[in-house]
Amino acid sequence: MSFTKLSLIEPILKALSAEGYTTPTPIQEQAIPILLERKDLLGCAQTGTGKTAAFAIPILQILSEQKLSDRGPRPIKALILTPTRELAIQIGESFSAYGKFLNLRHTVIFGGVPQHSQTLALKAGVDIMIATPGRLLDLMNQRFVHLQNIELFVLDEADRMLDMGFIHDVKKVIAKLPSQRQSLFFSATMPPEVSKLADTILRKPVRVEVTPISSTAETVKQAVYFVDKVDKKRLLIHLLNDKAIASALVFARTKHGADKVAKDLLKAGIPAEAIHGNKSQNARQRALSNFKSRQTRVLVATDIAARGIDVEELSHVINYELPNIPETYVHRIGRTGRAGNNGIALSFCDSEEKEYLRDINKLISKTIPVIDNHPYPMETAIASTGTASAARPQTNSGATGNRSENAFRGSNRRRFGRR
Ligand code: AMP
Repeated sequence: MSFTKLSLIEPILKALSAEGYTTPTPIQEQAIPILLERKDLLGCAQTGTGKTAAFAIPILQILSEQKLSDRGPRPIKALILTPTRELAIQIGESFSAYGKFLNLRHTVIFGGVPQHSQTLALKAGVDIMIATPGRLLDLMNQRFVHLQNIELFVLDEADRMLDMGFIHDVKKVIAKLPSQRQSLFFSATMPPEVSKLADTILRKPVRVEVTPISSTAETVKQAVYFVDKVDKKRLLIHLLNDKAIASALVFARTKHGADKVAKDLLKAGIPAEAIHGNKSQNARQRALSNFKSRQTRVLVATDIAARGIDVEELSHVINYELPNIPETYVHRIGRTGRAGNNGIALSFCDSEEKEYLRDINKLISKTIPVIDNHPYPMETAIASTGTASAARPQTNSGATGNRSENAFRGSNRRRFGRR
């Protein structure tokens, strides 16, 4: 499908083509027609799905088809509320890109910076405002912003808004919106409190859902070890001393890190090689074929270098470092447990990575079991293991659902001692 099938106006099509977009993403394909019909939308989608364009394009089109006064103050017609400054800036950039051949103005409002330049832009008049809730309320209270002409309202990343404690601010903003409006609500997850909020905002919404790759194969047994960064090397060597691990793909976050891990393993007498973008194509190929032929027992890779690695009967994936993007975890562990074979995915989590683990558990709607009887338990922090600790890797069928934060916040705290 191409964008031309979505009844978009020429200046937008031109802008999309200038951006290099040829085909709409699934959320765009579904949401754009609904929004152009002026219906409310409940979008279950996360960043990376193309959701920004899914709402920015129809907003631009709808507003550009209205007669706008070129002179004097322009009332704000569209409001996008988003939880963070970074997201607000990104959304602003998207509006600039898709609207570059249109005569619409937008501005971005967020806290933590002086408000002067923001109020200047508002005084000049804007059609579209992208804002974080706190600063928006501030400016509303100072009467720099009036919302009585809003026709289009987007609540972006609603679940994060709730997580970040912005719910009261959001509700105060919503209370000032005209009841006659088109509303769009986006959230990556839809726990009950988020749906409840959606119910208060939307009228007869059409629900659109795009599922990111989030399911981890049942054939892969997963487990996590809480371990201090300094002990990861020793823990890895300890695990690899088990000859039952015939071959392991170890993931490191950086090229330098991958090299270092491979060196440490070699020093410990474990045949290992690193594969990453700084190595020549030949060197990478060689490392890969050594691994496939089992000459090398351990391949240490960065995510980019690991793309396309397809090793039959890979028994273990080890996350030496957890990825900050949860989908990457799913990609990584999908390298094992293929074609009905059983695979094991072990992850090391230091105190700085707990947030990543939380995001992963959320994405896969499981709590990865924790292995707590190992020789290098975490010393620097209290590792609270919650309900899902296990002595050895196990499938997650019995785990406690998707509110994985419990694994860290639970009352089941205990201090680990070092042997
Ligand atoms: P988002 O989910 O809105 O954060 O978008 C993720 C990324 O995908 C952004 O970098 C967009 O520029 C890009 N993107 C959005 N829609 C398309 C498309 N139809 N074709 C190619 N890239 C896109």
